[in-house]
Amino acid sequence: MRQSHLFTKTRRDAPKDEVAKNAQLLIRAGYIHKEMAGVYSYLPLGARVLDKVERIIREEMDAIGGQEIRMATLHPSENWKKTGGWDGVDVLFKIQSRTEKEYALGQSEEEIVTPIAQEYASSYKDLPVAIYQIGQKYRDELRAKSGIMRGREFGMKDMYSFHESQEDFDRFYAVVKEAYFKIYKRCGLDAKVTEASGGNFSEKISYEFMVLTDAGEDDIVYCDACTHCANVEVSAQKAGDMCPKCSAALRSAKAAEVGNVFDLGQKYPKAFGFKYKTKDGKESYPIMGCYGLGTTRLMGTIVEVLSDEKGILWPKEVAPFPVHLISIAGGNSVVSAEADRLYELLKDNGIEALYDDRDARAGEKFADADLIGIPSRIVISEKTMSEGGVEVSSRDGGATSLLSENDVIERIKN
Ligand SMILES: [Zn+2]
Repeated sequence: MRQSHLFTKTRRDAPKDEVAKNAQLLIRAGYIHKEMAGVYSYLPLGARVLDKVERIIREEMDAIGGQEIRMATLHPSENWKKTGGWDGVDVLFKIQSRTEKEYALGQSEEEIVTPIAQEYASSYKDLPVAIYQIGQKYRDELRAKSGIMRGREFGMKDMYSFHESQEDFDRFYAVVKEAYFKIYKRCGLDAKVTEASGGNFSEKISYEFMVLTDAGEDDIVYCDACTHCANVEVSAQKAGDMCPKCSAALRSAKAAEVGNVFDLGQKYPKAFGFKYKTKDGKESYPIMGCYGLGTTRLMGTIVEVLSDEKGILWPKEVAPFPVHLISIAGGNSVVSAEADRLYELLKDNGIEALYDDRDARAGEKFADADLIGIPSRIVISEKTMSEGGVEVSSRDGGATSLLSENDVIERIKN
């Protein structure tokens, strides 16, 4: 995409009321637009990043047998009254129609997915089943000061599974856990998993996936010698305590929750009278699991963790474009023609580039490129042309090298 055609522009300052680093950088670079506290629109660059995050999640959920659907976000109040959520969930947005009917805006979809599964899973032969969607969610938060990490409207992948037994839920949880770790790794993040309380969702246990960052809202302790990780609030463990698994000393940190799994037991199937026929001809309520992963929150966490004083450092798989082609022509039409040619060559090789073809100073172009944070950068200038190559560098400060066109294409593809 030619940067001269991109309708967004970078800006020097974030809005004064924006305190979260993720939103400050994303607004300044033109990824998002703030509508009000906790509500953002995603502009061309931001929508591309979100698409890529969603694609990674979709691939990993499909790989473990998840089946994607799209559920309604406008919910009948009756379903929420059946489960007790209408009065019990404080963040639920409730809407009154002019016909005086009441609706809820989806903040989670147990109330919708349980009746759907009920319609199709009547026998043990239909279980287990795992259903997911990626879409918008709404929460009536009192405070929303964490940018896109905690919104009143936000993107989320939520999957729900139904099982014959607790053992089968536990088996599937282990599979999902590995898929989640793959997702975080592909997004450039190092996550840990903790056991935590069930919150207001569940009568049983839950697991939280955590990424260490000072922008996080949770205090955790973790062990460097093994995988042990616990929420301080829930476990009452603290820094310096002995790790319960390997007896090394625990460390403490701030962390952001980037995913969670709830073992919901039979709560929702019971609320909707969802029973299936067991192998021995009896009837039973399935065991249900819920697997959340906030897509916009994940994007915000990436920015919090992978940024410096100049801007964002996107990992390759989620960057809006894998390469930023920068033409430093300074009015020299031979240089611009060469940059145009390279842009077309990249396109012909299936490489999407953001092409800075604007008539702007070199310093401004580089500052914008640092802020936008595309991982690989190619510069074409009189100097690189006289040296007979293409200058390639990386946003994370790796060495600059002069390469042939073919080598550049190979390097970006791999
Ligand atoms: Zn340990």
